[in-house]
Amino acid sequence: VLLRFSLQTALTAQWQQSLYSAAVRDRLTEVYNRAYLNDRLEKDFANAAHEGTSLSIVMFDLDHFKRVNDTWGHLAGDQVLRTIAERVQGSLREVDLVARYGGEEFVVLLREVSLQPAIRVAERLRRVISAHPVEFEGHQLEISASFGVATTLGAGFASASDLMASADANLYRAKASGRDRVCGPEGTLSAVS
Ligand code: GH3
Ligand code: MG
Ligand code: MG
Repeated sequence: VLLRFSLQTALTAQWQQSLYSAAVRDRLTEVYNRAYLNDRLEKDFANAAHEGTSLSIVMFDLDHFKRVNDTWGHLAGDQVLRTIAERVQGSLREVDLVARYGGEEFVVLLREVSLQPAIRVAERLRRVISAHPVEFEGHQLEISASFGVATTLGAGFASASDLMASADANLYRAKASGRDRVCGPEGTLSAVS
């Protein structure tokens, strides 16, 4: 009886775990989804403001991703997304949160990390993506991404969405100025490739 009870308990726990994963994880890449990111971002933003600590966001978007789909097909595109998500997750600390924000756009939430270290993290991720091709059915696909970085401390953002908008604007400048690069707030020197 005891054995059956603990088996049932284990199965229930497993079931609950899988329900929870389905709610907070992106199905394709298994990193967190946008809803969970927004949730955490709100909380972390409030916390950072309260504690006077910094919270950084690294936002990135794959370059010319449409071409990957057009040239190699949608399954290749999916494979690229999975591989990049795994590489990025694998090169961060356990406490750093990676989320798929949209189609081929990702956000990394770095708690208690200030601007310069966040830019260095972004630069490392940029290289992790572009240094090795992604393999798909024997083909080597060259992939790169553009990055925008924003940090709360000293910037005076009124809300989490202002912080996101700033990272997005910096990402846009990274795209406009040639892609495969990291842009922080205008005027900051980032480690340019
Ligand atoms: P840019 O360098 O300006 O970002 O160009 P881009 O081609 O990456 O940008 P665009 O927004 O034009 O294209 C994004 C593409 O991503 C289009 C869409 O079909 C593809 N995409 C979005 N989600 C998925 C997905 O889950 N799987 C695959 N295979 N493709 C996806
Ligand atoms: Mg893109
Ligand atoms: Mg995009």
